[in-house]
Amino acid sequence: MRLKDKTALITGGNSGIGLATAKLFVAEGAKVVITGRNKETLAAAAKELGPNALALVADVTDIAATEAAIRQGAEKFGKFDIVFANAGIPGAGGTPLGSAKLEVFEKVIRTNLTGVFFTVQSALPYLNDNSSIILNGSVISVLGIPGYSAYGAAKAGVRAMARIMASELSPRGIRVNVVAPGAIRTPIWGAAIATPEAEKAFEKRIGLMTPLGRLGEPDHVAKTVLFLASDDSAHVQGQEIFVDGGAVASP
Ligand code: NDP
Repeated sequence: MRLKDKTALITGGNSGIGLATAKLFVAEGAKVVITGRNKETLAAAAKELGPNALALVADVTDIAATEAAIRQGAEKFGKFDIVFANAGIPGAGGTPLGSAKLEVFEKVIRTNLTGVFFTVQSALPYLNDNSSIILNGSVISVLGIPGYSAYGAAKAGVRAMARIMASELSPRGIRVNVVAPGAIRTPIWGAAIATPEAEKAFEKRIGLMTPLGRLGEPDHVAKTVLFLASDDSAHVQGQEIFVDGGAVASP
């Protein structure tokens, strides 16, 4: 029970990495507030998580809605000890240099970078001292994967923001770190893993650039988030941990 009596906020807690983390946190004794845009998947997640979870509709690109959800969560469960700013959308090759559309580029930045910043800002008044903030980054902040300019820029911005936030919040004992996944088996990959054949081909492609030769699982990331959320990482500040099967380390 590494999170006994702790309260956590997880944006994008109704799917993939966020949902796996919410389940692990509840199993470790935390109360969890999850947010997302999709009412149905939020309701299903709340049912699965049980009475120690509250699911709220809040789009991270809508700062007022995010602030309202955080306030509502704090009123129900008390101030937060953990924030996992996880909500994000895929670049999905939407921003190649020659043909990117401004609205796609801006939507990715607004969700994956601006949304993260204002989630943390909105949570600040409802955060206990000595709490832990984890931001979700990506290997694409480091690897030059074609078509992902906006996504990679947003995630590199997340790393920069984490270090600055860590400096700003250290006086309150608040830690800010990044978990940076490689390719993880979640709905974010859409059609690429929708059928067993597609998934096999995708895994082969991913394996070529990942020394461990496979897709990661949401739990691989959730367990690293648990480490960063808990006192086990009490002296880890402003860092980024890659959970990528070795992708960033490979030549
Ligand atoms: P999923 O698509 O399974 O989850 C994305 C989550 O973000 C959903 O819960 C979604 O909920 C939420 N979300 C998206 N946009 C918004 C928004 N505007 N406001 C609120 N919630 C939003 O994908 P993953 O679990 O894979 O992604 C989680 C994070 O992990 C993302 O930041 C992603 O960039 C990062 N990541 C994932 C990798 C992977 O290979 N899976 C690799 C590297 C990083 P809803 O649809 O209800 O809005």
